[in-house]
Amino acid sequence: MTTTNYVNAAIYNHDQQKFIFNQHMIVDENTGKIIEVGNGRTTRQVCDDVVDLNGRFVMPGIMNAHTHITDMPTYWWHNGEEKRHPDSREVCTMFAIRNMQDALSHGITYIRNVGAEFDIDVEIKKMQEKGWIKGPKIMTSGRAFSITGGHDSESTYEVDGIDEVRKGVRQALKNGVDNIKMMVTGGVLKNGETPDDIQFTLEEARTAVSEAHHKGKTAAAHAQGNAGIKEAVAAGFDTIEHAFDIDDEAITMMKEHGTIIVPTMNAMFAIYKYGRGVVPDWAREKVILNIKKHFMSIAKAAKAGIPIAMGTDAGTPFNGFQNESAYEMQLYVEKAAMTPAQAIDAATINCAKAMHIDQEYGQIAAGNYADFLVMNENPIDDISVVGHDKDVYQNGKRVHAQEVVNELKATQKIKKISAAI
Ligand SMILES: [Zn+2]
Repeated sequence: MTTTNYVNAAIYNHDQQKFIFNQHMIVDENTGKIIEVGNGRTTRQVCDDVVDLNGRFVMPGIMNAHTHITDMPTYWWHNGEEKRHPDSREVCTMFAIRNMQDALSHGITYIRNVGAEFDIDVEIKKMQEKGWIKGPKIMTSGRAFSITGGHDSESTYEVDGIDEVRKGVRQALKNGVDNIKMMVTGGVLKNGETPDDIQFTLEEARTAVSEAHHKGKTAAAHAQGNAGIKEAVAAGFDTIEHAFDIDDEAITMMKEHGTIIVPTMNAMFAIYKYGRGVVPDWAREKVILNIKKHFMSIAKAAKAGIPIAMGTDAGTPFNGFQNESAYEMQLYVEKAAMTPAQAIDAATINCAKAMHIDQEYGQIAAGNYADFLVMNENPIDDISVVGHDKDVYQNGKRVHAQEVVNELKATQKIKKISAAI
């Protein structure tokens, strides 16, 4: 056993909603797990190595519950013309490898990918697990499901009717996905539909969920408008993605079902802020129409105690795999009235719960994997410091070392987010 004792650390404690100073954490590098966390320097165990963190701040690695690793955010449109499809399997695979590396070096140690061209995430996951590519650990969904001509149908499995849904979901599970992603409503980035359109029927949605649950897997619904959100909650989806329009009835239903929301606020914010003249007007207009309602809905749900799991929709325009997860956390604080601790929980323990891996991820605790970040400043005082360069550890090994020169650049970038909507 090779053990390292990280001493003189301020470690984030989920139960107390704060960083606790002068703590230590012992990591076993063979298993990649934390074996002890406590006050002071420990006297219980002799370790092979001691690392003094000089009072720096330790939180669990960022988890992002809504990504698309096969999409490159700068690749969608040029001068208002769509360039996204058709991409080859080779191009999408290269995007995925690049995005995986970006994510890890920016502190994202676990992702839930919810829609990948050609089921590429299933293969990428195997390569990541073998150590052949650098990146976050992945929960995969393969290709998402839409109705024929429905949301994102250029890259989904198109299925209509209960029998096709059942067959399709069973096939996806056979292909090895960990989660089923279903486009229950229309969306922003496809012309000729709106977030309020309901696409799958309640019975089709229920069929997908029950097939996933029969195999012990989770199911995620792309659901934006109010009626579509309620249909998806009633169908039993574990997570509602985006959720633009939440009313009191939807909140009551979510409480009954134990539903988790994945907001993807930065997807909307990035198009709003940077998309003019690049993203087509028909898409940007839908963002302008919905962004305030969306942010207010997330604030309302968070206040009502619905668990929020951080997801960015990484891969959409101007919304990539670098500091966008940190921006998303900042948006929760600045635009959805969450506390910095709630934003940290959204990006850690709540994602772990959404992925059903909270026994081993999402907290700095004995028995959990040693996926963690070491930061210079306290995110409880200023959530934007999560976007600064930091040391990143995965399975107890440092996979990215902080470069101090980058810090000024990161600070400048962060400032943009505070703009009014
Ligand atoms: Zn998405």
